[in-house]
Amino acid sequence: MSLRLRTAAIHGGESPDPATGASAPNLVMSSTFVMHEAAGFSAHGVDEDTGYIYTRWSNPTVAQLEAKLAALEGAEACVCFASGMAAATGVLFSLLGTGDHVIMTDTNYAGIAELSRDTLPRLGIRVTRVDTSDPANVEAAIRPETRLVWLESPANPILRLTDLEAIGRIAASHPRIRVAVDSTFATPVATRPLELGAHYVMHSLTKYIGGHGDAVGGAVLGSRDDIGELRLEAAIHHGGVLSPFNAWLIMRGAATLPIRMRAHEEISLEVARFLEAHPRIDRVVHPGLPSHPQHELARRQMDNFSGMLTFQADGGPNGDGGRALADRMAKGLRIVHYAVSLGHHRSLVYWMDTPTLMESSFHLDGAQLASYRRYAGDGIFRMSVGLEDPADICEDLGRILG
Ligand SMILES: *Cc1c(COP(=O)(O)O)cnc(C)c1O
Repeated sequence: MSLRLRTAAIHGGESPDPATGASAPNLVMSSTFVMHEAAGFSAHGVDEDTGYIYTRWSNPTVAQLEAKLAALEGAEACVCFASGMAAATGVLFSLLGTGDHVIMTDTNYAGIAELSRDTLPRLGIRVTRVDTSDPANVEAAIRPETRLVWLESPANPILRLTDLEAIGRIAASHPRIRVAVDSTFATPVATRPLELGAHYVMHSLTKYIGGHGDAVGGAVLGSRDDIGELRLEAAIHHGGVLSPFNAWLIMRGAATLPIRMRAHEEISLEVARFLEAHPRIDRVVHPGLPSHPQHELARRQMDNFSGMLTFQADGGPNGDGGRALADRMAKGLRIVHYAVSLGHHRSLVYWMDTPTLMESSFHLDGAQLASYRRYAGDGIFRMSVGLEDPADICEDLGRILG
């Protein structure tokens, strides 16, 4: 029986414990499992029918979370990792080798952007970073040795979108090329990239899927074969696996993902409209606002507009710039936390200055820098709108904005 999204979030991957009748999932912390017959000692030859052997290979609690995420994403299979970065490097280091070429979006999670600039070239992997909001840029960057296109939509931190279906179509005419999408900002509630032609979907579970800011984790979803290979190389051999305790916490968070995303969307749009009308705010970007430059694509590609927004401000009463306003926020906000990360029930805000980010992470110039600045100007406040009463969030921000 294929479950509807809200039901899959709650019951996917779970069933009452046959031994005790427990309704809630057990937390199985055991690192090893007692076997009833002799078996080999290599992860080669381990398949879905092999029982549990060792937690780095698979663990009952982690497996329940993997099944739940697969049900949400409409994927055949899922493998979890210790963090979103471990999930991303799992895909990159398993698929790519010396001489391979990857096309990556030029604006994405800073850790992955920096890895693509510092680490991949050191391993002989060539990277072309393009503005993927125009699919023609991806097509133009394809070379005979291109093996992977890495996308992120909406992209951190500027909330620029990529038309996943258009790029899926381009990749489909090049059988060598796989498409991976970091879907952390969208979640499976908004967008299911596998249905749009992607081969891999990656999530930082630390964000919306866990949802409560108390567990770091990551996941990759795709076909049974692709995920089987990824589990062997990236989880079992690279070793950055998710702890069962974190899986158990994230599973509890994931159960309410669809209703939380609906509330995140509603509350963030209320905050976005408050900010858009505020005299000290120059610009608000939220995929759900008609003023978002790609609002039409957002309506087509996202069943939920998520809870992320950015705003640009003149710095308040003295017009003293974003950094000074950020400092006032860090010292004076009472409800919204001035902190990195996103997707939690607590609202979080963080200042991201364009020149600094260019130097540390993105290194863009020319048309690519111009595209970035069309969304972010000199700098943005990236806000992850939580689940508090929107009136309290607006009051808190309004007091600092003056
Ligand atoms: C946070 C994040 C990551 C990295 O995830 P961690 O769990 O912090 O390792 C990757 N991509 C996006 C879009 C993120 O927001």
